[in-house]
Amino acid sequence: MRTSEKLKLYYCDTFELPLPENHRFPMAKYTLLRQRIASGDLASHCELRVPPPASDDEILLVHDADYLDRIKSGQLTSVQLRRIGFPWSPKMVERSRRSTGATISAALSAVNDGLSANLAGGTHHAFAGSGQGYCVFNDVCVAAKAIQRQHQSIKKVMVIDCDVHQGNGTSGIARNDPTLFAFSVHCNENYPFQKTDGDLDIALPPGTQDVEYLYQLKTGIDAALDQMTPDFIFYIAGADPFVGDRLGKLGLTKPGLRRRDELVINYFRDLEIPIAISMAGGYAPEIEDIVDIHFKTIEIASERFSKDRLGL
Ligand SMILES: [Zn+2]
Repeated sequence: MRTSEKLKLYYCDTFELPLPENHRFPMAKYTLLRQRIASGDLASHCELRVPPPASDDEILLVHDADYLDRIKSGQLTSVQLRRIGFPWSPKMVERSRRSTGATISAALSAVNDGLSANLAGGTHHAFAGSGQGYCVFNDVCVAAKAIQRQHQSIKKVMVIDCDVHQGNGTSGIARNDPTLFAFSVHCNENYPFQKTDGDLDIALPPGTQDVEYLYQLKTGIDAALDQMTPDFIFYIAGADPFVGDRLGKLGLTKPGLRRRDELVINYFRDLEIPIAISMAGGYAPEIEDIVDIHFKTIEIASERFSKDRLGL
């Protein structure tokens, strides 16, 4: 199988951030996900790549210069750091750049190949001038502006955010940008407790299950497309709507999450619109469940990628 026939996956798990003991962020999931992909059948259909870090120039397409300077130099206030939720270190800066770089690389690959994914990213709580909720830079917004700059054909970009938490940073950034459409499907009684209205928000009550979720998602995509005809899709495939998630509050099963992924990926690939996928959150008590959900997303993307290649 030639390289061009493989789904390109970008990862940055070698830049795993050392965290204080008992920190609740499951940092190990990135390595476990990459290892599971590399050690199974999927390996022959995918090409794993380490991306370059996002440059200052790229980050400044979205973020304020003062905020970037503070991140780089470790000059964040204690309030700013507490909102982000990670301790500052040079590694934290490197990881944030690399994770954003992975989404830029995935987006550039998807422009050519139709589909690609970052095995991390989805840092949708980051605003132009501040980070929060484990999000330093908004990878998807930076990548959206980077591909718009590089490709004349990419004018309008839509974000389909299916992480259980509202993509408030993305909404804040998209608010002043008519070429960027922020659509979020999330749990209404969940972080961030002060939402930032996006172009389209579907706020679901706790306990929402597969059938209702999938109906709302499909209805939402139809409504989003009434408002914008996108040239490119970023799909944020959070694992945290899972019924067992500690922070999620929704009630989706693993088969339900698979159908969610199939719905989004097939919907837009049927329209021949390129898609870049970011993984976003997942906080199930068993890390294997988080990895399993992310893995299935990649498996579905790989299946669709192969079908597109074969013209099926
Ligand atoms: Zn989340």
